[in-house]
Amino acid sequence: MADQLTVAVLGTGIMGSAMARNLCRAGLDVRVWNRTPEKAEALTSDGARAAQTPAEAVTGADVVLTMLYDGPAALEAMTAAGPGLRPGAIWVQSTTAGVEGIAQLSDLARHLGLVFVDAPVLGTKGPAESGELLVLAAGPEDARPTLGAVFDAIGRRTVWLGEDGSGAAATRLKLVCNSWVLMLIHGTAEAVSLAKGLGVDPRYFLEAMTGPLDNGYMRLKADAILNDDYTPSFSVVTAAKDARLIVEAAEAAGVHLDLAAAGAERFRRAEAQGHGDEDMVASYFASFDN
Ligand code: NAP
Repeated sequence: MADQLTVAVLGTGIMGSAMARNLCRAGLDVRVWNRTPEKAEALTSDGARAAQTPAEAVTGADVVLTMLYDGPAALEAMTAAGPGLRPGAIWVQSTTAGVEGIAQLSDLARHLGLVFVDAPVLGTKGPAESGELLVLAAGPEDARPTLGAVFDAIGRRTVWLGEDGSGAAATRLKLVCNSWVLMLIHGTAEAVSLAKGLGVDPRYFLEAMTGPLDNGYMRLKADAILNDDYTPSFSVVTAAKDARLIVEAAEAAGVHLDLAAAGAERFRRAEAQGHGDEDMVASYFASFDN
């Protein structure tokens, strides 16, 4: 391995672009690929090298970081990357891909001779930009020294959840955390929409939510609705995908989750109303007829 760690980032959307920027700032040799090439090319001013194909991006990489929409997108990109991959390279899989998705991706990693690390992240656009994500990781002990520089660049802390990436231990925790985050989103959206429907000034609702009932994320997202600001940190389309993954994982485990399924339905309606690319708090619109 060369002195300078080479990291290929596949997928430079909201999260991947911010993570790639922080890897550049940390002095790593960063290559980027994105399906829509302009988003990868935008990172060249930060010092990344934009590649035309996944295989070109991963050629010579010590670490490959995938941050794509879902499991099938990550599977497709890594299959295409195959010819460029060095056996023994570390695959940090940060896409929220679900339990089944991780099983498929880790099978591909085994087939390609890669070291697989299940590494979803907690935190949205802001923490990604400031390098303060919480990294949840499961993967072999041997890979950890190499990954220190990568995880330090993108996150404030890494929680290791065992050595077996294929068991999706990190992804399981990620789904548990996201189930709570999505409930906060829908709970906030529904309370503000109910206030509107009942002719209550939603500011009185926010004033009433003090002490143990208060919540910083609820306040942030309620303010976004009141300011009509749906700039995406986490889009409705992506959150809908996560909601489906949570429902699927719960069903497979024999756990009855009513709220997760209802939340997935709210996202479906908001998307059908044309709010798919807006922030997930656009769940608000699902409370009203068009
Ligand atoms: P995003 O901005 O929509 O980025 C999605 C990325 O996936 C883009 O690079 C997109 O390429 C690519 N993509 C989608 N379908 C593809 C396909 N079929 N083949 C190849 N590339 C494809 O989403 P994001 O918010 O960065 O989320 C990325 C991942 O991080 C998701 O798994 C999400 O659940 C997870 N996550 C998000 C957040 C958050 O707050 N945003 C937080 C934690 C985890 P194009 O640019 O060409 O569309």
